[in-house]
Amino acid sequence: GAAGVGLYRTEFLFLQRNELPDEEEQFRAYRDVVLGMTGRTVTIRTLDLGADKADRSGLVLEGEPNPALGLRGVRLSLARDALFRTQLRAIVRASGYGPVRVLVPMVSAREEVLAVRRMLRMVLADTRREGHEVADVIPLGAMIEVPAAAIALPSFVGAVDFLSIGTNDLIQYLLAADRNNEALGEIYTPLHPALIRLLHGVIRTAQKRGKPIAVCGEMAGDAMYAPLLLALGLGEFSLHPNTLLELRRAIRNCDLSALRARAPALLRARTRKGIEDWLKGN
Ligand code: PEP
Ligand code: MG
Repeated sequence: GAAGVGLYRTEFLFLQRNELPDEEEQFRAYRDVVLGMTGRTVTIRTLDLGADKADRSGLVLEGEPNPALGLRGVRLSLARDALFRTQLRAIVRASGYGPVRVLVPMVSAREEVLAVRRMLRMVLADTRREGHEVADVIPLGAMIEVPAAAIALPSFVGAVDFLSIGTNDLIQYLLAADRNNEALGEIYTPLHPALIRLLHGVIRTAQKRGKPIAVCGEMAGDAMYAPLLLALGLGEFSLHPNTLLELRRAIRNCDLSALRARAPALLRARTRKGIEDWLKGN
């Protein structure tokens, strides 16, 4: 019952193996997902290797002093022209089999989006010239998961066709709290006023500019947070298929206009407890 695929994490094709998947292997993998979705849009995220997702083939730099802040996501893709071109070619070829969107991870600056758009345009022209049947247009989106991208969104929202907020990393980088470090306990949490305000600003900016926006990451699939995201104006959730039915039930139980009316109170919450109390009031 999903409306489409909100986040296809392509780096999994690259993990736990020593050699890189070539264009043909990637193309088949992407095409099969597109065919499997029978006309629903598939959002394919370009490689997000690095930090917690290190490969064996040597793409990810070893010994980076701080890999979470290192050459990862779109930074790695833009530093490896041939690798990135191969992936874009595979995605573009898959677009001949059904609707596809390209989503770029770890964007922190407008220039990165523009560089990817240039490459995508070239790859579309090349593949068409070679006789492949490809889509007329492929929407290009950015993950909002680096605080700089969230704060400076008005400066590059015009360069993207859609957005997806990656809450796992956005929380990590916003709160300076490792997403995988259990010792941090409740320090890593979506229930922080800074995150609520940032989400509010990002969703509002996207909507003002008419750009579709989703939230992905663990927060999106947790039914507990659905009222909060709905109050902030969100209309698109990208989540693990296992949580789809539960989330749908939670959303159906929400009174949207009452939630939106309570949004100012949510934005005024000053502590984790304040946000929890707001959630309990629904
Ligand atoms: C995120 O950061 O929220 C996200 C969806 O991407 P990933 O978990 O793959 O880093
Ligand atoms: Mg991420």
